[in-house]
Amino acid sequence: MAEDRKMTELEVTARRWLNERGVTIDDLAELVMFLQKKYHPALTLDECKYNIERVLRKREVQNAILTGIQLDKLAEQGKLEEPLQTIIGTDESLYGVDEILAFSIVNVYGSIGFTNYGYIDKQKPGILEKLNDHSNDMVNTFLDDIVGAIAAAASSRLAHSAKGEE
Ligand SMILES: [Mg+2]
Repeated sequence: MAEDRKMTELEVTARRWLNERGVTIDDLAELVMFLQKKYHPALTLDECKYNIERVLRKREVQNAILTGIQLDKLAEQGKLEEPLQTIIGTDESLYGVDEILAFSIVNVYGSIGFTNYGYIDKQKPGILEKLNDHSNDMVNTFLDDIVGAIAAAASSRLAHSAKGEE
């Protein structure tokens, strides 16, 4: 962003880790577009990006990003203890803590976020499809939910601001 603003170490790290895991602001903005296009036909990718940027400023979002990605990375390196290593390493479907962590992001702009989150998690458009590809050695057990949640939260923010709320 061109805006002159001092980011905390937490925010800088959260953004860098997202990037290192292959998730860009554009990827996130495209998910917002996917969710909101039908309600806002004139929506631009720049507006989607703007709302993603605002979500990424929130401390609870940064905390969830760091915690989730850290667990994914440790699982990828085989550094967790059993039985957690196998559970996270194989993205076991009954685990569910990845989704619970993502809820702390979805929650930031209230309950409409949950509908968006549930929908995008089912459809898995764009970057979400890539993150769910289990054919490589990457572990994205937490990241896929975090990414969906960031997009859902940004969509809620957009919906609120379209109604003049902030
Ligand atoms: Mg997951």
